Amino acid sequence: MRPLVLSPLFASLTSLPGVGPKLERLYARLLDREAPRVIDLLLHLPSGAIDRRARPKLNEVQAGQVVTVAVTVEEHRPAPPHRARAPYRIIASDDSGQTLTLTYFNARKDYLEKLLPVGEMRYVSGTAEVYDGNLQMVHPDRVVDEKGFADLPLVEPVYPLTEGLALGNVRRAMDGALARLPALPEWQDEAWLARERFPAFTEALRHLHRPHEPHDIAPESLAWTRLAYDELLAGQLALALVRAHMRRQAGRGSASEGRLRARILKALPYALTHSQQKAVDDIITDLARPQRMLRLLQGDVGSGKTVVALVAAAAVIEAGRQAAFMAPTEILARQHLNTIAPLAEAADIRVAILTGRERGRERGEILDRLALGDIDLLIGTHALFQENVAFHDLALAVVDEQHRFGVHQRLALTQKGEAVDVLVLTATPIPRTLVLTYFGDMDISELREKPAGRQPIDTRTIPLTRVEEVEDAVGRALAEGQRAYWVCPLVDESEKIDLAAAQERYEDLRKRFGPKVDLVHGRMKGADKDAAMERFAAGKTQLLVATTVIEVGVDVPQATIMVIEHAERFGLAQLHQLRGRVGRGPGHSTCLLLYKAPLGDTAKARLAILRETEDGFRIAEEDLRLRGEGDLLGTRQSGLPGFQIARIETHGKYLGAARDDAALVLARDPTLATPRGEALRHLLYLFGKDEAIKLIRAG
Ligand code: ADP
Ligand code: MG
Repeated sequence: MRPLVLSPLFASLTSLPGVGPKLERLYARLLDREAPRVIDLLLHLPSGAIDRRARPKLNEVQAGQVVTVAVTVEEHRPAPPHRARAPYRIIASDDSGQTLTLTYFNARKDYLEKLLPVGEMRYVSGTAEVYDGNLQMVHPDRVVDEKGFADLPLVEPVYPLTEGLALGNVRRAMDGALARLPALPEWQDEAWLARERFPAFTEALRHLHRPHEPHDIAPESLAWTRLAYDELLAGQLALALVRAHMRRQAGRGSASEGRLRARILKALPYALTHSQQKAVDDIITDLARPQRMLRLLQGDVGSGKTVVALVAAAAVIEAGRQAAFMAPTEILARQHLNTIAPLAEAADIRVAILTGRERGRERGEILDRLALGDIDLLIGTHALFQENVAFHDLALAVVDEQHRFGVHQRLALTQKGEAVDVLVLTATPIPRTLVLTYFGDMDISELREKPAGRQPIDTRTIPLTRVEEVEDAVGRALAEGQRAYWVCPLVDESEKIDLAAAQERYEDLRKRFGPKVDLVHGRMKGADKDAAMERFAAGKTQLLVATTVIEVGVDVPQATIMVIEHAERFGLAQLHQLRGRVGRGPGHSTCLLLYKAPLGDTAKARLAILRETEDGFRIAEEDLRLRGEGDLLGTRQSGLPGFQIARIETHGKYLGAARDDAALVLARDPTLATPRGEALRHLLYLFGKDEAIKLIRAG
């Protein structure tokens, strides 16, 4: 049970003053959570701060400066009646003899007359500009009288926003959220806290949302670091609990002679690579043993993880049991089905798919057959671990592209059967130092070689100004019958703008090349997406304009060209993933990274790495190193994947401590029953790791 003291933090955001259903929807998007709660807002940390402490006289103000000035209102100059678009101007001055024009667009006259009455003194805060030789401020952030000035925070946090949501909204909601913070027990070790000089959790939050100095809001600050450490510890503790839970449960051996495997391998048009063979051997051995398997199959894009997973599934199926294969998106689930279906048929394995799209009778039938054991292998999305999905005898859960799923989902799936063995596939070449963070002490198989016959991808960087030449080149390739992806710019935090950019490029290319151009994006309905992917896979279309939905795992071996617009905005790992969509077949492949010049040093270095190597592991290491040297990307991308507050470059050094701390805690207090253990339960709830609490053995 969640400690009662946390209740106010888990209340809906709509319980805060000023947050209604409309704003709730915007917060849902901002905080990436369907029904955001007070705690989600509190953990949405500022990206910077505005410093309003500068209080110059008007004759000392410099353009571009954020200032707070005390001025007397001289005159209102409403827009002339016949020019509705013209701004409403208010002239103000101070005793330095300078004047300041306050400029408002689309403002109501009566509102402004009340806000800035002629003849009165007001404190006005905002960014100063020079326009037509005059000092002006467009839409001052703050206008207050003497009384209001006393309450004006002079250092104000700035938050990442989403379209439609204003800074003022977030600040106001945050005030409400901070007021809800209860007194919480301390869950960190006191000696450690003292050594690191960390503030308490609630104090850290107050500090970050109500900074005194702009640099209070830096990831390096004690307050931020405290929260980052909390997050890391919560993660490590959850993993350790999962581990302990898994270890306690005996597994069931699924022994097989390899009959089905042999039939699958015979149906394959190629032979397994050495590392695929080795991974298969390891997995088969694990499955036959009475202990539970918890294995990570790490392999670069295109290294052939799917077939390894299928062979693993065949082993449990041969033992008369079932397997589940969970993909992060519907496109991928269907693609897996397409790849697997013919092979499964060769081995008489009964396969079905279950995603959000299978509804009504169809869904009912699938669920019935599954419960009866008439389906051997169920492929799907997270729909697989919904409550009403019951297997006859689930033995193996394969989870593809794990970084998209949390420990939570992994657990939900393993609870669908008795002692389910787990195989996690990941194409994210996670640096060794981080593997433990995400996967605890899972056993690891690596696919280090590429399947035979792969040709290197010719990777080039080209400034966006030469996009026409790129279009020409793509046109020539299309005329030769080649297939190409064109990935549109990633615009941080706004899916809508991403979409607009993709749409525009699509129309542009379609005008040039006609109906062989198609578009696929995240806002499309599942069926439309599949249809677009299928047309492309079948060669009915040749140029697929896409937002990053094609990022993970899409496999069309005939595609040979990958164009990525605004490559400088993507993370290295993401670019590597995208590039991995080509170079999958026998044809010579090209990847064109279009960037907006000029590039900074780090951005240059990043793109250069991609030109130099296709080794995902090396790219991951270099990425980590470059991040340490200052990240040019937004706050979101620089976080540890799966972490909200901890940043690898700043807080990565605390990972080891968090891991040791978690191990020590559980060694001494496996049921979290001591006072510190009780306090740590609060921590697990706050960071959404409470699933792990259920795994604590009773008594
Ligand atoms: P990923 O590891 O990225 O999931 P896939 O499993 O999608 O890779 O495999 C990528 C492509 O390589 C597929 O078209 C698959 O058929 C092919 N493939 C897999 N193993 C081999 C192999 N040993 N030899 C040749 N091609 C292979
Ligand atoms: Mg894959």
